[in-house]
Amino acid sequence: NLTAAPISKPPRWVRINTLQTTLKEQLKSTFAEYEQVASLSDVTNGSHGGKRLHIDEHIPNLIAISTTIDLTTGKAYKQGQLILQDKASCFPAYLLNPKPADGDVVDACAAPGNKTTHLAAILQDNSTAAAPSNAKRERKIIACEKDATRSLTLQKMIKLAGGERVISVKAKQDFMKLDPTAKEFANVAALLLDPSCSGSGIVGRDEGGVTVHLPDATAVHDPPSTKAGRKRKRGGNDAKSQAFAKPPSVEVPLAGEEEEPLPTAEDTEAKLHTRLMNLSTFQLRLLQRSMAFPAAKKITYSTCSIHPEENEHVVMKALQSSSAVERGWRIMKRSEQVEGMRKWERRGWVEACQAVVDAEGVKGRVDVREVAEGCIRC
Ligand code: SAM
Repeated sequence: NLTAAPISKPPRWVRINTLQTTLKEQLKSTFAEYEQVASLSDVTNGSHGGKRLHIDEHIPNLIAISTTIDLTTGKAYKQGQLILQDKASCFPAYLLNPKPADGDVVDACAAPGNKTTHLAAILQDNSTAAAPSNAKRERKIIACEKDATRSLTLQKMIKLAGGERVISVKAKQDFMKLDPTAKEFANVAALLLDPSCSGSGIVGRDEGGVTVHLPDATAVHDPPSTKAGRKRKRGGNDAKSQAFAKPPSVEVPLAGEEEEPLPTAEDTEAKLHTRLMNLSTFQLRLLQRSMAFPAAKKITYSTCSIHPEENEHVVMKALQSSSAVERGWRIMKRSEQVEGMRKWERRGWVEACQAVVDAEGVKGRVDVREVAEGCIRC
């Protein structure tokens, strides 16, 4: 039963955009008057007018402050030096850890661009850290977005963040329609795949703390720019990317749109099942397409869903598909992951991985325990 009482107040996560600034600079300027605290829970507690900050122990250049503080009116935020981005949303780019020596990077489902700009920042940080000969090998990030309105948002965000030099946008581009074998992708060594999902794991903010949005058969975490999209999203909260998130508000139905009658419990369950199956099929197709880029060596696949159907099941099915077995795709072991992610305790569910083997049999040399341990839940 997920209808538990709200957990305590969450912090506001702030990613320091190293394309433009550094953590050190920000600690001396925007956060000069803040007290640094060792414990995350101290961020939202106590006096200090809320001016406390905690430097995250997993993700570099990520800090937590109190949600009572509004940074959006400040210079650093307006100039794109600070990006409001949830901690979980920082995992994929950090985990992918693109390095100039590896090759180009594709962000397959990029808008609004939080992860794209994070990738660019990491690539730049890794270039600076690399030997001078490697630093000369300029790499690019190809950001693909299908939706027209969200493509514009993506372009705006990249410009504000200072990522235009390294990121090239494929606006209004369906990732499934790209040809992985085309010459322009010959050097693509890494892909970040963060497709539309049910959004069932999104944590919304309101004054009372955190509300876990329960699985909703009609919700989908994708653009509300079409009438159908707006209708699906009514009552939902696209808060995965804080930068574009607003506190949950009551949405008034648009003219001509009727509320559907309340579904029965059976209806809801059947609808949820169908919705999850559709999403899962779509997500698997995108992951398999990512695996088909000839020079690709690393992919991160992420969702903001709590459902195994959209997570472990997709990963297992992709790994078990014959093309993946032939190419030798495997899960990245926890011990091979970047340091901050190795330290993250909450991993994938073994039973969820096993369920795919039970349904489909073992194909290739997939070890369910290893896959579950390589997956990350947050
Ligand atoms: N990665 C983004 C970030 O962190 O800011 C969030 C991505 S959002 C979960 C999924 C995005 O994928 C949506 O903007 C949606 O329009 C886009 N999308 C869905 N299907 C797509 C496809 N076939 N090709 C390209 N983009 C797609």
